[in-house]
Amino acid sequence: MPEASPGIWAIWRGFRVSYVVTIDGPAGAGKSTVAKETAKRLGIKYLDTGAIYRAIALILHESEIQPIDDGIMREALAKISIELRGKAVLVNGFDVAGEIRTPEVDELSSIYSAVPSVRKALLGLQKEQEKHGSIVAEGRDVGSVVFPGAEVKFFLTASPEARAERRYKERIAKGKPADYDEILAAIIERDKNDSTRQTAPLIIPEGAIYLDTSDMTEEQAVQFITEKVKEVLSHETD
Ligand code: C5P
Repeated sequence: MPEASPGIWAIWRGFRVSYVVTIDGPAGAGKSTVAKETAKRLGIKYLDTGAIYRAIALILHESEIQPIDDGIMREALAKISIELRGKAVLVNGFDVAGEIRTPEVDELSSIYSAVPSVRKALLGLQKEQEKHGSIVAEGRDVGSVVFPGAEVKFFLTASPEARAERRYKERIAKGKPADYDEILAAIIERDKNDSTRQTAPLIIPEGAIYLDTSDMTEEQAVQFITEKVKEVLSHETD
């Protein structure tokens, strides 16, 4: 049999047209890099659900809509359109991708994403992405709420200290100011927000493969996940 990505192989066998891989986990676990690279190696699309939450948090904050009144939030959300186009995140037609990766938006997204009407408004947009072909979806509830029927699910984590150290090094490498203790405190705070909120808290989705990457390189994590996906899909098509 020719060497091919699982997607191509599955189509060739005539069993599966597309499949979903989910990667959930806390802030700084390396999900983005790992999910992006995994998608590339599998030859399928990458869905960054955090970018959607970041974009909505930014626009609501800039519109001075406080994350407290669900009614007002619903009204505001009805007037906002979000579209993913490649790397662009279009909010009412404007690309905000360049503005959503700041410590301020880290915090805002964690606060706004806890509001039920925000999660509800963004659910359809996320689910829709599956219609355009196979995906690796990354987030906090992609395996539990958005794609509960995903073919392969992962929960990627690392100790708060390992995650803070990675974020610290990332910021230094980009020439940005960084304070390890501040980063660690922000990570612990975001973990608390994300896992204790009422709607769609960060949990280990049922059936997810648990991977602690504290002592792993990103390459090792990508290899592990890619191999697992191939293994699971090949068993399904046996
Ligand atoms: O993954 P990222 O750090 O970009 O996500 C930003 C924030 O968006 C998270 O801290 C989390 O509060 C929220 N989020 C979420 N559900 C997702 C993805 C992100 O609540 N599926």
